[in-house]
Amino acid sequence: MQAMPSLSPSMLARLIICPAYVCAPFSREDRLRFMGLHAMAMIKVISRQLRLGCKLEAVELRKDNTRIDLVFRTPSDTNRMHEVKSSRRLLEIHRLQAALYWQADFDEVVLSNGQTDILLSRDYIDSVQAQAKEVRELIVNHPNIAATTYKPNAETCPTCANQSCPFNISRRQC
Ligand code: SF4
Repeated sequence: MQAMPSLSPSMLARLIICPAYVCAPFSREDRLRFMGLHAMAMIKVISRQLRLGCKLEAVELRKDNTRIDLVFRTPSDTNRMHEVKSSRRLLEIHRLQAALYWQADFDEVVLSNGQTDILLSRDYIDSVQAQAKEVRELIVNHPNIAATTYKPNAETCPTCANQSCPFNISRRQC
């Protein structure tokens, strides 16, 4: 039996939407811009949660090969992790990613940006984890099928570098 590939929540979220997704690399400039916007969103989320009476417990917590953006202790004594996005609009791909960060020692998972916070339900998290298991198994057991299972989507196609896909209008080089 082949070992399951190690995939980040970010990559796995994209593969749930389209199993043939290939990540286009960031340029250095794009990476720096992203880091700056993300840092500003983190500050806004921290400030908002502190005003709501939460206690900040960790920033960029490294855990099991992932990095949890923020961890708070809420006024009702729950242990809550936040996945923080810099974009103004929170998309399904962001929800998927946040759900994939869930680990058993967190009571709640929240997806945040500079403007708002979305608490994910346990049913949604369980459903996403099940979809992640399915896509991992597809990639391991049927890699050729996975690589040609094209599911065009406005949230993945713009950053996809799959040169074989007929839906990839940019056909960017890696
Ligand atoms: S361009 Fe093709 S392979 Fe990439 S996400 Fe879109 S449909 Fe999937």
